[in-house]
Amino acid sequence: MAKDLANWAKKDGVKYFMVSFTDLFGGQRAKLVPTEAIKDMQADGAGFAGFATWLDMTPAHPDMLAVPDPNSVIQLPWKPDVAWVAANCVMEGEDVAQAPRNVLRRLVGEASAEGMRVKTGIEAEFFLLTPDGSRISDEYDTAEKPCYDQQAVMRRYDVIAEICDYMLALGWGPYQNDHEDANGQFEMNFEFDDALATADKHSFFKFMTKSIAEKHGLRATFMPKPVEGLTGNGCHAHISVWDKAGKKNIFATTKGTGQTGELGLSEQGAHFLGGIMKHASALAAITNPTVNSYKRINAPRTTSGATWAPNTVTWTGNNRTHMVRVPGPGRFELRLPDGAVNPYLLQAVIIAAGLDGVRTKADPGKRHDIDMYAEGHKVKGAPKLPLNMLDALREYDKDKGLKAAMGDEFSAAYLKMKHQEWNSFTAHFSDWEKANTLDI
Ligand SMILES: [Mg+2]
Repeated sequence: MAKDLANWAKKDGVKYFMVSFTDLFGGQRAKLVPTEAIKDMQADGAGFAGFATWLDMTPAHPDMLAVPDPNSVIQLPWKPDVAWVAANCVMEGEDVAQAPRNVLRRLVGEASAEGMRVKTGIEAEFFLLTPDGSRISDEYDTAEKPCYDQQAVMRRYDVIAEICDYMLALGWGPYQNDHEDANGQFEMNFEFDDALATADKHSFFKFMTKSIAEKHGLRATFMPKPVEGLTGNGCHAHISVWDKAGKKNIFATTKGTGQTGELGLSEQGAHFLGGIMKHASALAAITNPTVNSYKRINAPRTTSGATWAPNTVTWTGNNRTHMVRVPGPGRFELRLPDGAVNPYLLQAVIIAAGLDGVRTKADPGKRHDIDMYAEGHKVKGAPKLPLNMLDALREYDKDKGLKAAMGDEFSAAYLKMKHQEWNSFTAHFSDWEKANTLDI
């Protein structure tokens, strides 16, 4: 039986609930509901005007209700009076088809009907900046190769350890934290989980990291390329698929059965990967959703020597220069997504592309065990990833299979909103064009 939020709140001293949903642009929207009112809200949902968020609605639409999913509730470790709960968007008794958490729930259900349980872990990199976002907060963090910098990570110990302590208390199984490849950049890793649980944790992690950074007088950003010339914020996803009970990794070859999958990836695992490869260019519209995303992929070499982001649709073994890396048996890492990715749509598009791969027995193609940054020109025929957001949206629009798998209503709403965003960007007058055109 579902957790009764009113009783749970009483036990844990919670005074307010943030009933939260995520819109198409990844914005988290919430109402603060006093515990006295949560009983009715749990049953009926909190009311929102959908048009006021990025969900492709008009002011004439009826009330949208955000119905809390009690399985997702988290008491804020830094403000225990308040609990955050992810909600599902409903309108006139029906799930709102384009709402990201609903898109993911539907795809999780489809995978489950075919005996598959997708589990993922994410690596949500972020920068710690000054509060106005103008520069890296630590003025001493200037090394040319700052990755794993011992001094620099300790100068931000108070922020990192506070977040990690909270993840420990929440039972997320955090296991390592480090300074990443750009000045001012960090990564914190926690255990993988079912796709929906990971999406909720990913959302909460962003909220928590921004909140704790603010508390310490800093600003955390997941922006794909917040500082020109430095490595950007990736959000790599480690993907495996398990049987329905979640006990057996069906991506892994089984010892003693004569299975001889490439790099320990089973036939099913290879087909799932095949689906990701087949839809990669279209998938970028979801995994790399902003104008700024394309400053991370397709970027020139950074000051540290590598961008750590892919340009081309290729895969390999334990080698970080490709779009997909198979670091060990039974899982693979998709290195395409960036920090702007919508946590729910990330998981949804992985499942949509992967399921199509399994259904159509897609072939991931030849693997390339080379340094793609140095020798990429030797690979013939591998598609290049989209060069900008408009190209990615066009690729997505062309990919009828992926559009249908993500849901026609979702795809239409997403393309419409994102094209509007692109138009707003191109209508924006930039310093670059003045500098390059004034004297023409
Ligand atoms: Mg990293």
